[in-house]
Amino acid sequence: MSKIKLHNSKARRKELFEPIDPSNVRMYLCGPTVYDRAHLGNARNVIVFDVLYRFFREIYGEHNVKYVRNFTDIDDKINQRAKDLGKEIKLITDETIAWYLEDMELLGNLLPNEMPRATNYVAEMIIMIEDLIKSGHAYEAEGHVLFSVASYKDYGALSGRSIEDMIAGARVEIAPYKANPLDFVLWKPSSDDLPGWESPWGRGRPGWHLECSAMSHDLLGDTFDIHGGGNDLIFPHHENEIAQSKCCFPSGGFANFWLHNEMLQVDGKKMSKSLGNYFTVRDLIEKGFPGEVIRFVFLSTHYRKPMDWTELKANQADSTLKRWYDMCSNLEEDLKPSAEAIEVLSDDLNTPAVIALLHKHFQSKNFAQLKADANLIGLMTPEFKDWAFDFDLSKYEEALMEVRSEAMITKNFDHLDDLKDKLSKAGVEIQMSTDTVKLVPTLKLDLAKLESIL
Ligand code: AMP
Ligand code: ZN
Repeated sequence: MSKIKLHNSKARRKELFEPIDPSNVRMYLCGPTVYDRAHLGNARNVIVFDVLYRFFREIYGEHNVKYVRNFTDIDDKINQRAKDLGKEIKLITDETIAWYLEDMELLGNLLPNEMPRATNYVAEMIIMIEDLIKSGHAYEAEGHVLFSVASYKDYGALSGRSIEDMIAGARVEIAPYKANPLDFVLWKPSSDDLPGWESPWGRGRPGWHLECSAMSHDLLGDTFDIHGGGNDLIFPHHENEIAQSKCCFPSGGFANFWLHNEMLQVDGKKMSKSLGNYFTVRDLIEKGFPGEVIRFVFLSTHYRKPMDWTELKANQADSTLKRWYDMCSNLEEDLKPSAEAIEVLSDDLNTPAVIALLHKHFQSKNFAQLKADANLIGLMTPEFKDWAFDFDLSKYEEALMEVRSEAMITKNFDHLDDLKDKLSKAGVEIQMSTDTVKLVPTLKLDLAKLESIL
């Protein structure tokens, strides 16, 4: 078996990866805060972790990998959003989760094995806080409970920064009730108009960091293999997760490996909601970029390098994929991924090298291997296939023209409406002007439904 090396942020270098238990490889990814559509940057770690998940399933066996990704559904941004829109919080979080899952599916990502929500873990979080207070790692002040950073000697080890640097470099909230400016909130009071839970410290809600410690412990145990997220989460989020988990479950090691992806950028700056320099995954899909093309663009850059989205990259990915699909559509063979693909992926998930290998397979007309190696990183998988073919929809266009002319004469539009309805249910977009009809296949194209129309 090829040796897997992954860049471990904790060690600041690539290290040999060996799972704690090869029959139960466990990974945790910090998921989204659900108040609005995911922007394109939010998709990056989902795609990176999906590649890792697929790779591990290939190496250790499909049923021997457990992948957990949470939904943060308690957050002040959500509360604000609910207020702004005059909607119930639960409606907003449910709706956003549904959008998120839809968008991530369009990008070809498998579902994690577990997707816990913070709201289902409040009881566990309260127990953790009680334990931390008992063991002297947390204290109560003015209705808040704070984690005492000074009580954990390794605080800062992940980011490799000194306490002074952390205070200077980050936007650390200074509050009168904090003994140390780096102390962070485990619990805070909720006014009547905010979501809250009863606790020994009054009605309130947990701070953000605690949920990941509670969920990963419940679902993956007190030591697991990999924890990840964007590198913007290293400090304070991951540093705080480590402090809480190690102090609460001192016999465990929390995560052995920390994997962090670099940021998607726009003109050299991180794409983010707060800077306003973002577009959503949905915006791109609606502009006509297929999910597979977006995924291809992401995988063309190594996950630890910053990257930009450009339409040029997308157009190149589009034509490459179409050329590949043209040659791979009727393959009978179902191959395993090549040793070479496994080897390059084993080197800290080198997806650009896998894509270079795919080009090589294409040049040497090794189409069955091209498809098998593409599948390894979640490209050319069955759920993606349809968009890349140039469907000939002309017979449906002619039929629609004819039915419309008929309707103009008879003034009975039932038949026309019925045909239009069937076409759009088959995933075809209808563009009609006074004298033309154009049909455009969408990502939702359903061939069986289409063929049953005429
Ligand atoms: P949030 O919903 O803001 O907590 O972010 C969800 C995830 O998206 C986190 O893991 C972030 O690290 C990640 N993320 C946010 N912005 C970017 C970006 N521009 N590029 C890559 N990842 C990002
Ligand atoms: Zn987290």
